[in-house]
Amino acid sequence: MSERTITESSVTADINDPVINIRGIGPRRAALLKKLGIRTANDVLWFFPRRYADRREICKIAELRPGRNSVVIVKIGTVSCRRSFRTGIQVCSCEAEDGTGTLSVIWFNRKGLGSILTEGTSVALFGLPSFCEGRIEFSNPEFEIVKDASGIAGFTGIVPVYPLTAGLPERWLRKFIDSILENYLPLVKEYLPQSIIEKRGLPDIREALRGMHRPESESHWKYCRDRLAYEEFLFLQTALVLRKERLKRYGRAARLTAEGPYFSAFMSSLPFELTPSQRQVISRIFEDTKNGHPMSRLLQGDVGSGKTVISLALAAAGADAGIQTAIMAPTEVLAEQLYVQAQKFLSKTGIKCALLKGGLNRSEKSRIIDSIREGRIKVVVGTHAMIQDGVEFSRLGTVIIDEQQRFGVMQRGEMLSRGKTPHLLMMSATPIPRTISACLFGDMDISVIRERPKGRQKIETRLIDLTKIRDLLQFMIDESAAGGRTYWICPRVEEDGENNIASVEKRYKFLKKHLCPLGIGFIHGKMDSEQKSRELEKFRAGEIKVLVGTTVLEVGVDVPEASVVVIESPERYGLSQLHQIRGRVGRGSRRGVCLLLVDKIEEEAADRLKILLATDDGFRIAEADHLLRGPGKISGYEQHGASEFRTADIYRDSVLLERASEDARSLVSDEKALLNERAFKDKLDNYLNRGSIVSIKA
Ligand code: ADP
Ligand code: MG
Repeated sequence: MSERTITESSVTADINDPVINIRGIGPRRAALLKKLGIRTANDVLWFFPRRYADRREICKIAELRPGRNSVVIVKIGTVSCRRSFRTGIQVCSCEAEDGTGTLSVIWFNRKGLGSILTEGTSVALFGLPSFCEGRIEFSNPEFEIVKDASGIAGFTGIVPVYPLTAGLPERWLRKFIDSILENYLPLVKEYLPQSIIEKRGLPDIREALRGMHRPESESHWKYCRDRLAYEEFLFLQTALVLRKERLKRYGRAARLTAEGPYFSAFMSSLPFELTPSQRQVISRIFEDTKNGHPMSRLLQGDVGSGKTVISLALAAAGADAGIQTAIMAPTEVLAEQLYVQAQKFLSKTGIKCALLKGGLNRSEKSRIIDSIREGRIKVVVGTHAMIQDGVEFSRLGTVIIDEQQRFGVMQRGEMLSRGKTPHLLMMSATPIPRTISACLFGDMDISVIRERPKGRQKIETRLIDLTKIRDLLQFMIDESAAGGRTYWICPRVEEDGENNIASVEKRYKFLKKHLCPLGIGFIHGKMDSEQKSRELEKFRAGEIKVLVGTTVLEVGVDVPEASVVVIESPERYGLSQLHQIRGRVGRGSRRGVCLLLVDKIEEEAADRLKILLATDDGFRIAEADHLLRGPGKISGYEQHGASEFRTADIYRDSVLLERASEDARSLVSDEKALLNERAFKDKLDNYLNRGSIVSIKA
């Protein structure tokens, strides 16, 4: 047995060894590890804790306090185990003491405890003590037998907590990771350029990985984590800067100008004056596009600032140049709205538009697809699926992406790969702080619209206590009589027995009961898009005056008569998101009202919400949101499955992002030096393939 181990680790160990070749891992464990995304030893090294449990302080029984997770080291008495006849659950319990006091411990369904724990054994317990009539109890604590002081080294201190899957015991997983750290970590090779490691004072990759799994202290963890977050940004930034350089050097795209007949017809048919900001953005776009270089521009502007018109102006100029324009929205509902606007403004100039959506019948769909391929349709509106489904264009020259924040950074390249190097305009209503957007969109130019079309009124925002809900109902009745309509936003779709969070289901019933004559509808993400469009259509037409929903309503939905938005449990959302939601009202001539409906919330949360009462500048709100998050701390660390980054967080790590952006520029500026960094380049290529951000080859 021991001989086998020696040969395995000294001769054949390779960082890419499948875990099944590792001693102690059979097919069953290998299958469970695979569920966690782990196939190789290297995957284990990059399988980071979900969070960390702080067990640095070991205390005495006399020092235990209610509500505080603690570690105590105790001697235990006799353990008695029995099976409950009623439930079949095995219960083991014992008394324990440490010289300062006694406590009782109880475990449920932990087989074999009776034989591991014998009277007089010293054990470290970790758990939440409960206090009842002067007795202290630990229920289901984690424990470790104390043989000597080093025996509990992995139990106390900062203890990693890994994502688990059923069938893999936590203790086993920790030990397994320990063995991988010992046998495989030394095989990992550094890939960041030495110059960067020195300049930024970074730990090398081996230390960084070790520190993620086995941090020695909070500052050590931060030092290690920051390197990994920084490097994610560095790869992204380098890729973006390279893309920009290459587009500038090799990219070709249609020349677009303001001189053509379609464009002039479009401009003269607009029913309103463009705002100075809108004009300015349009002229910047033509500066970019008049020379036949592909434009890459991010257009940021608060909800209702009039971004769509700008995108249609670009499409009109495209029609003059004989190219097609694809306009993409993140959802079908939004795509439909865009299409309505495109029809309204473009069709009368003679530009043919089409909407590609699910639910079209076969012949309709193939008719549209044929006309796109033959170039008769100049403007195609749809969701992201339009690219994935491989719709063929005769001459796709411009790609416009609306509500860009719903698409990932990584997806950007994929969108471009079809039309070679089309012009790209991305529009976003999520105002990210300038420093961050400049980095995250390092490959793009950025325009910001800060003013709104004239005649728009400020949205009045107020905090309302849940006890005032009757007054609120009356207000909605009055509002409806005056021609207004109400959105009512809840954090959940269905009721949840455990807590009292408002759900669409519950509110819908409640409003139906009290405001039935107004007509109540509901909309949420679990409905299919046809149902959603139907509800929205009824609301738009005024058949229903109140629409209860989740944040599916957050982005882009445009019903000019909507005048009131009620947001329940607003403390559960970020400020920027709340700002987005309130932007759904006050889009027509009627003033908008946003009511934040709160039930007993903490003062701190209320103060945060008051920022919304004080300003309606989305950028200031984004900055405030950003500052409130503060820098990362080990105790607050949670790895989110949804993030595009493994460790980095664009808001929390904005300082790292700025550094990475600076370093990426200097790396790319010295191409020769960059080519010599083989390991870095290999990783970068890998990274590029993953997200194919660089869609053109040099
Ligand atoms: P967003 O930036 O949120 O996409 P939209 O482009 O949807 O904003 O514009 C919101 C509404 O304002 C639309 O109904 C649009 O027709 C109208 N609009 C756009 N520009 C102007 C303008 N300059 N003057 C008046 N109304 C405008
Ligand atoms: Mg919009």
